[in-house]
Amino acid sequence: MGKLFGTFGVRGIASEKITPEFALKMGMAFGTVLKREGRERPLVVIGRDTRVSGEMLKDALISGLLSVGCDVIDVGIAPTPAIQWATDHFKADGGAVITASHNPPEYNGIKLLEPNGMGLKKEREVVVEEIFFNEDFHRAKWDEIGDVREEDVVKPYIEAIKNRVDVEAIKKRKPFVVVDPSNGAGSLTLPYLLRELGCKVISVNAHPDGHFPARNPEPNEENLKEFKEIVKALGADFGVAQDGDADRAVFIDENGRFIQGDKTFALVADAVLREKGGGLLVTTVATSNLLDDIARKNNARVMRTKVGDLIVARALIEHGGTIGGEENGGVIFPDFVLGRDGAMTTAKIAEIFARSGKRFSELIDELPTYYQFKTKRKVEGDRKAAVARAGELAREKRYRTDTTDGTKILFSDGWVLVRASGTEPIIRVFSEAKDEEKAKEYLELGLNLLEKAIGS
Ligand code: MG
Repeated sequence: MGKLFGTFGVRGIASEKITPEFALKMGMAFGTVLKREGRERPLVVIGRDTRVSGEMLKDALISGLLSVGCDVIDVGIAPTPAIQWATDHFKADGGAVITASHNPPEYNGIKLLEPNGMGLKKEREVVVEEIFFNEDFHRAKWDEIGDVREEDVVKPYIEAIKNRVDVEAIKKRKPFVVVDPSNGAGSLTLPYLLRELGCKVISVNAHPDGHFPARNPEPNEENLKEFKEIVKALGADFGVAQDGDADRAVFIDENGRFIQGDKTFALVADAVLREKGGGLLVTTVATSNLLDDIARKNNARVMRTKVGDLIVARALIEHGGTIGGEENGGVIFPDFVLGRDGAMTTAKIAEIFARSGKRFSELIDELPTYYQFKTKRKVEGDRKAAVARAGELAREKRYRTDTTDGTKILFSDGWVLVRASGTEPIIRVFSEAKDEEKAKEYLELGLNLLEKAIGS
């Protein structure tokens, strides 16, 4: 990992870390890379989520790009996957998204994109960083400064999704869906997409507002407490909630039950792998073994990567994967957008629901059952070393381990994963098993090994 970029882009508090000067220099550095790669007049697509600091940062980033001699297509407020889609659609040389995804409203960040819409490759990130820190910027002569044009991406993106699902089936069943885009970028897309697909739609928290007045934009169970009750009280078929930049979609069934992201990922993966007659499913080490069951059923292979959506996207491209996803409600359709796509996921779920004729809860309950436990422990000092030491202790006890990301101890009927957080001073411990008691036992075992590792 470099000095600037995290697992996907750079993020921090707006006006403190992510200042207009920072965005300007980022635009100049990225534009310089594109110029030096030999493009006469590079074209960059730029968009943002609804955050208060978004317009300020976008304008600064655009100025930086123009000063280097890049042309810019400004798509305004749009979901991250729509901006990724637009970068490919407009045949641009790169893209940039101003967003802090699910973080609280004071945060913002910048994600840079490849021409195909995927997050920037590592080797190019390193070059951007070098130019950024050395301030070794290209500067266009007065008559070579770039131009900006505005384009709408929301409508064509919605159309593109509609072309990829069975709209007739959805129209026939007319699902009743309640939508909560968290006042984020999904406010502009998801309610309209679902209506055009033939759903009856009621939306809450769907006026774009970067203060995120209604709830924290992270769509976890805690933050969706009220939404779960709304879905049930309205008698909807299901509810769908998004994060601030709408790359994730999280579902609530008709009984107001929060559905874990791996389960909806499993439903989507099952449908896609069946349509394609198998293939390769890419997911992370933190996702349920449920995905292995789904892959086996469809004669598909499974590849497990480190945690991170960009890592999954890179593996999908590199290995020609069919479908990818994570346990947090992020699903990647690599033949559409090379990143998590909340709207595409929702459209596919609506199609699955409509074609099945079943209730949403039935679709979920028919999936193989796994029990999961998740906990975390505050650890000061070298967290990675503690996790590695826990792995050594596990191997001394003759447990089978996987060190793709942290230490994962594998059992015949489950696993426990001990992994250092990349952003907080904590180590997370996740366990899973077919049997509830076993899952608890594996969690305890992981925690015990971690305690011993910290003590030793
Ligand atoms: Mg996001």
